[in-house]
Amino acid sequence: MLEALHASPRSSRPELVRVTGLSRATVSTLVADLIQVGLVTEEPGDESEPRRTGRPAQTLSLVPTAGYAIGADIGHQHVRVILCDLFGAVLWEHWVAKDVDRAPAETLDLVAVLVGRALQETGVDRDRVLGIGAGIASPVEKDSGELGAEGIMPGWVGLHLTGELRRRTGLPVQVTNDANAGALAELMYGAARQVDDMVYVRLSAGIGAGIVSNGQLLLGARGLAGELGHLPLIADGLICRCGNRGCLETVASPVAIARLLSQSWGRQIAARDLPALIKQRNTGALRAVRDAGDAVGRALSTLVTLLNPRLIVVGGDLASAGEDLLEPLRAGVSRHTLPSAARGIEIVTGGLGDGAEVRGAAGLVLSAAPQLLA
Ligand SMILES: [Zn+2]
Repeated sequence: MLEALHASPRSSRPELVRVTGLSRATVSTLVADLIQVGLVTEEPGDESEPRRTGRPAQTLSLVPTAGYAIGADIGHQHVRVILCDLFGAVLWEHWVAKDVDRAPAETLDLVAVLVGRALQETGVDRDRVLGIGAGIASPVEKDSGELGAEGIMPGWVGLHLTGELRRRTGLPVQVTNDANAGALAELMYGAARQVDDMVYVRLSAGIGAGIVSNGQLLLGARGLAGELGHLPLIADGLICRCGNRGCLETVASPVAIARLLSQSWGRQIAARDLPALIKQRNTGALRAVRDAGDAVGRALSTLVTLLNPRLIVVGGDLASAGEDLLEPLRAGVSRHTLPSAARGIEIVTGGLGDGAEVRGAAGLVLSAAPQLLA
């Protein structure tokens, strides 16, 4: 019943009978119980809908404040924490600039402080929080929650994020990498709603992909699927931070674009300078972004040929370049993909901007809300 109401708010009793396969009497009894314990609320149905006979149909929904989730997004340069209600509406949000990579203990303490502030400032009781979902810019081992951060977040290698956050907050914790969190957010709230086969590409300091196949996040044997940034692209390219050579990340991340411009112009350009250069229509910066789009498109063509997604959602810092990035990216995909797999594929920027990762992290908890509430 909770699952049915979570999937379809404003359901009527007959709809619940149909969806759950339970008898009318059982549904009525369960609804009465759920209303009594404050998990479900009843309201008049849409009066404008024509009815044949009888009383106005009442609709039933989960009470949005019956449970809450906390999302934490731990990037290389920032920490962001949100508190959401049961439907993912953000009630509290805070962002802190932080040099995360070499300071795991300080960063985790900061997350715990922000969680405490979220509860205090919203007046939400800790017992009503279903859990913390954390997304981090590192590969995460599926079963152990251990971070595979070699070369990526040097201070975090081998750390068990789940246990560390649980110890600091007293709340249940689920962890995933930031690209998977972004994919989940676009699936639940953004550009990929009702899409069962999609790829979310995150183009930030790190490049990664969250892959949704048949409605499920594709994690792989150890949870490390989707490391798009480390597909080999240039045979004699630069040595990547992962230790391999010529990975996509060495040519197409905002950091790589800034490095290329710095070398070409003989002055220091940082990744954070790129949005302004694009806005000014700087021809060199635009060319570098377009070449990066082409490289990402070529790498994505491998995924498209193998996985046949219907939609690719582009997120992360570089997504703010919009069509300057997307146009060559689409061309790169269609030029290198099996034509029948490329046909009809849609490639768009995300609907949630830089809030995708943190909302998806909270979504990790909220997608299990019916089981957690029961
Ligand atoms: Zn690499």
